Amino acid sequence: MASAMGTKRFQTVFDYTKWGCDIAVTCQCGHKALLDTKAITKTCVVKGLDTRMPAIKARLKCKACGSREVRCAPVER
Ligand SMILES: [Zn+2]
Repeated sequence: MASAMGTKRFQTVFDYTKWGCDIAVTCQCGHKALLDTKAITKTCVVKGLDTRMPAIKARLKCKACGSREVRCAPVER
């Protein structure tokens, strides 16, 4: 899986949708969440938000500890 993923670029939330991937978010506390990219894309379009990953990541916050130190990784649906 790692090699196949290496050829894909995930710069915006649209890239995740394009490759049929959701976003796996892992916090420094160990809490994990899976984000539905279709839902995020819709929210971004409706609210006119930045769809680039650094901007998406900046809006994320851990529900368990409130930290913003989270990592995002693509996960195939
Ligand atoms: Zn956390």
